[in-house]
Order: sequence, then C-alpha cells, then structure tokens
Amino acid sequence: MKTRRRTFIKTLGAVSIAATVPGTACDKAPPVIGNGKMKLSYRTYDLQLKHTFTVSGFSRNTTPVVLTEIRYEGITGYGEASMPPYLGESQESVVNFLKKVDLGQFNDPFMVEDILEYVNAIDVGNRAAKASVDIALHDLMGRIVNQPLYRLWGLNPEKTPMTSFTIGIDTPDIVRLKTEEASRFKVLKVKLGGGNDKEMISTVRSVTDVPLYVDVNQGWKDKHMALDMIHWLNERGIKFVEQPMPKTQIDDMAWLTENSPLPTIADEAFQRLSDVAIFKGVYSGINIKLMKSTGLREAHKMITVARALGLKVMIGCMTETSCAVSAASQLSPLVDWADLDGNLLISNDIYEGMKVIAGKVTLSDLPGIGVKKLDLNVE
Ligand code: MG
Repeated sequence: MKTRRRTFIKTLGAVSIAATVPGTACDKAPPVIGNGKMKLSYRTYDLQLKHTFTVSGFSRNTTPVVLTEIRYEGITGYGEASMPPYLGESQESVVNFLKKVDLGQFNDPFMVEDILEYVNAIDVGNRAAKASVDIALHDLMGRIVNQPLYRLWGLNPEKTPMTSFTIGIDTPDIVRLKTEEASRFKVLKVKLGGGNDKEMISTVRSVTDVPLYVDVNQGWKDKHMALDMIHWLNERGIKFVEQPMPKTQIDDMAWLTENSPLPTIADEAFQRLSDVAIFKGVYSGINIKLMKSTGLREAHKMITVARALGLKVMIGCMTETSCAVSAASQLSPLVDWADLDGNLLISNDIYEGMKVIAGKVTLSDLPGIGVKKLDLNVE
C-alpha cells in the first residue's frame, strides 16, 4: 500500500511540475490515479453514552450511528452518520439512502464536487447520510496523497481553538460532579432552558471560574425574559448564548440579538449553506455541524459565506465517534469557537483521532481526517 501511495504522490508531483514548466505543460492533464472503482460499505452501530444526556426537551442514553467506508485501490476512507432523534434521521433511513448511492460510476475520488453533487441529488434531506459519504470521501482523498486534510485546505494546525465540554441539564449534585470531572477543559458549555437556569449556572460556578458557553436549545419563549437572563449571564463570565429562542421566532431573535450584550448563535435554526444568508441581523453567528451541513465540503463553504456576512463561526458536533469529530476538527483552525466533545461523551468509541490537550483541539498528523480504527472486528 505504501508503494502505491508513493506512486500517487510521485504522479501528482509530476503533474504539478508539468503544469508549471513552459513547453512541458499539457493541454490536458494526465490522469493522476488508477482506473479503480470506489466501493461504499456501511454498518449500523449504537453509541453508549457515559451519562444520560438531557437537553431542553428530552433525555437519552444511546445514539444510533452508521459507520461508512469507501474503498479505492486498496485504500479505505472512513465516515460516519450520527442520528440524534431531533434531526429526524434513523439507522434505517441512512441505510436506505446509502443503498441508493452508486460510487462505482466514478473512478476518480478527487472529483469531490461532482461526486457529492450526485449524492446530494439522490434525495432531499438525509443530511447525516450524505455527511457519512462526504467524510469518507475526504478521508480517502487525504489517505491517497498521504496528507491530513488541514494541509490540503492550507490551514495552520496551531490555530485550532479550545473546545468546550458540555454539561447537560441535571440536579445540582450531578452538575457539580460533571463539572469537577471536566476540570481538564478550559471552557464549558452549559445546557439551559430546563427551568433551572440560574441554579445550573450557580452550581457550575461553585466549582469553576472558566469561561462558559450557554446553549438554551430554543428553551426561552419570551424575548424580554431572554434578555434579562442574558444580562444576568453576562455578569457571570458567559461568552455567548446558543439558540436562545425557538427557531421560528425570527423577529424576536433579531430584537434579542440587537439588544443582547452577548453574541447569539444559531444552531437548530439552520442546516445547510443556503440557510445562512438570512442570518445577518438575526444572529451574531452560526454553529456548523457536519451532520447538518452534509459534511466537510459544504461546512467549508458555509464558513466562507458566514465570514463574508460578518458572522461569527462555531463548529460543533453530535454525539459521535472520533471519526466524525476528527473530521470536523480538521476545519477548526477557521472558527472562533469549537464544541467538539461528542466522542468524549461515549464509552464505546472505535476510532482514535483528534485529542483534547490542555483544553485545545489537537489534530493528529495522520492523513485524511486523521483517524485510526481501533477495533476491526466490530459488527
Ligand atoms: Mg446547540
């Protein structure tokens, strides 16, 4: 396999030189890869959560995922779809979607735009399913040229942000315990909107004075009450407020953002690239997640559009293995804030990749999305 990778790189290098030397430039670039076919495979897997996870609206102990692989000429790229219930996808819907994906018609994994345009057009929705193909394809591409994605995108791995660790809604005793357990993180994200907001913050603050992010998950229905809470939070070291109000209350959100002393961040209010343009003046920023954006390709475009609109950018995740979390972390040098703790919330991760070191997102130097599979026998 190593020999093959070296051949790919050598061939790519030759193309690059040929394209820049006068007299040797080709009218048509020679193929840089073999004539193999891509093969997509997948299997379902249930993530076990270390703690019952409670946000405004529901609790759960497991998260269903589908793990994907794309093989091409002996090299395998890894991907993942995670389906928390509120997004409306399931293992069944993802498998049904993936059954329709025929990557055998493509013999160049670098034609990512064409391949993902085809995948996107198969059906509407199915964002996590589409992300599982996008992630595996980007991983495959990086592995073929033996480079991490952040390098292919021209990003500085030193510029990764701190990541927050999430404290779910719970009783003061449990919140205190979880906060103590999270002492290695330099910033925490506290879930609010469960009717005990001030108790949640006061309990966390009784343990730590690190900066806090707050995620209300649409839990505040009244804009005046929301503004009062944000003023209260502003005096307690909170840095921003994520999805404070229901996604449908757009005028209320615009009023809140205009009057809020803290940035407001959209999460449930949007999914994909085309949703971002309406947010200028409604929110201060957006929380991009690969399971909403259909993967890395569109997430990268969303960051560009958000910057053009003057919006702040956060990158987050669902409860996921280190596969999808590591994929998202490859883009993190471009964002203001990261909430990439989904792999740390589970007890049966089967990948190793991005690490949190001294609270900071730390990218591995492995190629592609930067992961290693830990257990080859998991079914
Ligand atoms: Mg959120």
